[in-house]
Amino acid sequence: MRQVAVLGATGSIGASALDVIARHPDRLQASVLAAGSQVDALLALCRTYRPAHAVIADEALYATLRDGLREAGLSTQAHAGTQALDMLAASDACDTVIAAIVGAAGLSSTLAAARAGKRLLLANKESLVLAGELLMAAAREGNATIIPIDSEHNAIFQCLAGCSDTTSLSRITLTASGGPFLGRNRDELAQVTPAQAVVHPKWSMGPKISVDSATLMNKGLEVIEAHHLFGVPGQRIRVLVHPQSLVHSIVDFTDGSSLAQLGLPDMRTALAVGLGWPQRIESGVSSLDLLTEGGRLDFEAPDLEAFPCLALAFRALQAGGTAPAVLNAANEEAVSAFLQGRIGFLSIPDTVTATLDTVPMQLADSLDTLLAADARARTQARALIDNPTTTQRKYARA
Ligand code: NAD
Ligand code: MG
Repeated sequence: MRQVAVLGATGSIGASALDVIARHPDRLQASVLAAGSQVDALLALCRTYRPAHAVIADEALYATLRDGLREAGLSTQAHAGTQALDMLAASDACDTVIAAIVGAAGLSSTLAAARAGKRLLLANKESLVLAGELLMAAAREGNATIIPIDSEHNAIFQCLAGCSDTTSLSRITLTASGGPFLGRNRDELAQVTPAQAVVHPKWSMGPKISVDSATLMNKGLEVIEAHHLFGVPGQRIRVLVHPQSLVHSIVDFTDGSSLAQLGLPDMRTALAVGLGWPQRIESGVSSLDLLTEGGRLDFEAPDLEAFPCLALAFRALQAGGTAPAVLNAANEEAVSAFLQGRIGFLSIPDTVTATLDTVPMQLADSLDTLLAADARARTQARALIDNPTTTQRKYARA
């Protein structure tokens, strides 16, 4: 029986993961459920899945969780705080960890699971962008198996058939849906609202990744993610817009073969691959019928002028060191401000550009260096968001 910790259980990936787990009561058990601050939603999941442990990251909610579990008559043990989260991710309570917390907040528990040698189903792409070398090294040293839970990277994993020798791989093509604003120019993008940005045409996802998909930063983060997961330099990673979102990525090999993975856009497929590998298990997702899906597969180059975030990510990957951490932190702050209605859509790439230009790049020699770069980038991005004109003037002088 696989004992699965679902970190970010109340989110979109968490819900998909629990759906797949519930289909296999004979082989999968949700043993740890964790959430940030949605304690009621976490309690509801505990009533359904009866895990051995439940963790709420917000320590102020510990008593609510503990009392709610007691009132429900559950033997689930209550925990709170990030240390408890890290401890459980590394403990014997699980052999498999689904890292589905959103943002840099997911790094610590992801690293803990990697060091402890878990099967790591990695959805939290921000941890790879922020600390890719360290995370991959921790997984190697801890003998952890990483299975990517991002549809593109999961596709590549499948095309490589789980083989970690990627020397015969000559290029990776990441496909992108183009997001809700595909085809719009900069003038049209200036006015778009958070409500419009979070409605993705093909995927149902949490708010942060939905905005990232609308700016194409999501694809930029995925380029950096692919670089770390598969050891391929940025020059050999290409992005193609594929509006149907049925081809999830393509791998070119040195012998002229190209392999692609296709399927309906539903994250339960990637999660079932991660949970069952090397076996294939039922996910609840129907097989793809290309005729009923319209019989067309279109591909086009991304518009980097309207969506500069993708180019910014390539730039950060090329610069290396702490630059991807700075890119990620500035983007998290900008997306959060956009979702709160404090800045416009085009201020997201502007904030990231200005932060990358001003925060000095360093070698990514330790976790402390990376976390310090993350903190500096957040301070800089917040200053720009709070007072764009002052910060821009200061920035112009720097
Ligand atoms: P979401 O917003 O729906 O859920 C986020 C989860 O993280 C929630 O359970 C929340 O409680 C938890 N969380 C937030 N802050 C936390 C904190 N400080 N400590 C502990 N837990 C915290 O997000 P999502 O769409 O499920 O995405 C999760 C991750 O998976 C992201 O990194 C995203 O990029 C990645 N991802 C998602 C999809 C998708 O289809 N949703 C696809 C590919 C990759
Ligand atoms: Mg993806």
